[in-house]
Amino acid sequence: MSIWVYSENNDLMLELLTKGRELANQLGVELAALVLGQDVASKAEELAYYGADKVYVVEHPNLATFIAEPHTSALAELVNKHKPDSVIMGATKRGNEVAARLAARLNVGCVTNCTGISVDPETKMLLLNRLVYGGTAISTQRCKTKPQIATVPPRTFEKASKTDRKAEVIKEKVEAEEPKVKVLELKKKEVKGVRLEEADVVVVAGRGVKKKEDVAMLEELAQLLGGVVSYTRPLAYDLKWSPTWTGMSGVIIKPRLYIGVGVSGAIQHVAGIRDSKVIVAINSDPDAPIFKVADYGIVGDLYAVVPELVKKLKEKAK
Ligand SMILES: Cc1cc2nc3c(=O)[nH]c(=O)nc-3n(C[C@H](O)[C@H](O)[C@H](O)COP(=O)(O)OP(=O)(O)OC[C@H]3O[C@@H](n4cnc5c(N)ncnc54)[C@H](O)[C@@H]3O)c2cc1C
Repeated sequence: MSIWVYSENNDLMLELLTKGRELANQLGVELAALVLGQDVASKAEELAYYGADKVYVVEHPNLATFIAEPHTSALAELVNKHKPDSVIMGATKRGNEVAARLAARLNVGCVTNCTGISVDPETKMLLLNRLVYGGTAISTQRCKTKPQIATVPPRTFEKASKTDRKAEVIKEKVEAEEPKVKVLELKKKEVKGVRLEEADVVVVAGRGVKKKEDVAMLEELAQLLGGVVSYTRPLAYDLKWSPTWTGMSGVIIKPRLYIGVGVSGAIQHVAGIRDSKVIVAINSDPDAPIFKVADYGIVGDLYAVVPELVKKLKEKAK
């Protein structure tokens, strides 16, 4: 009996290990982490200190770059050999693709983008929560088949910390089928400054911000607090002010401090910020829904409030 966790993303892998450990303890089963790739032995050795009982490491030239077919076939071979009860994977684009392919290959159920996982006390099967109806409701789902395959988005769980206990690292041999595409070139995405996902402080501009030039004062506020600026979807996607936005369909964030400036607090936005440690809202409408989730609210015109905050922070910095 075992729970397996796997993600090609290191941070997400650590998050899955936290939840995997909790579930494995509850069920009294083993937790195994999977490492797939080429020249990944040292990665597996390092991962062995993060709470798993076993780390299966698979090295194969066809797994050198992430392509869905060889990764799916390697995972299917391992699952057929060891028969885990569940495989929990990271809900990245790649993770969701491979999870779905793996489920189809094994003819079992698959629940993607789970925001919560618990154990059904009667059946001992996993209860998997997903946001439905545009984030306005949570649906609890259960696979009827094993292995139960589920995927979990980044930052749903805390990252596991390094421990003194080392998991058993086991080398596995697989066939890993030939990829059907050839990767000709890999280019790293250019990121200026701190990544939104990793920022400690995020100041979000909503539609209350009337012109793109006005974002400068939010940038000044963010800079003084050591943070970054993000946007609601209408500004980012509809008005093309930014390639990324915050929320359910954008980037889900968990900063220490979130400040929503002229953000109404639509459910799809709140779904992506609700785990922020402190939520501050600045809005001229005292009935704006954002105030229901905010720890601190400032009712007022952002064009008066933000410059005042900037002034006060500058004075304090002196
Ligand atoms: C499937 C789907 C997915 C979606 N995903 C996302 C998502 O991931 N992220 C996201 O953000 N949205 C998402 N949306 C859109 C979402 O439903 C809302 O439309 C959006 O979040 C609203 O953005 P907003 O708060 O900037 O604008 P509005 O709702 O228009 O709110 C503007 C706010 O600014 C206030 N305001 C105006 N002037 C001032 C002023 N001078 N000073 C202070 N306050 C002022 C107003 O009182 C108002 O509350 C999604 C929608 C759908 C259908």
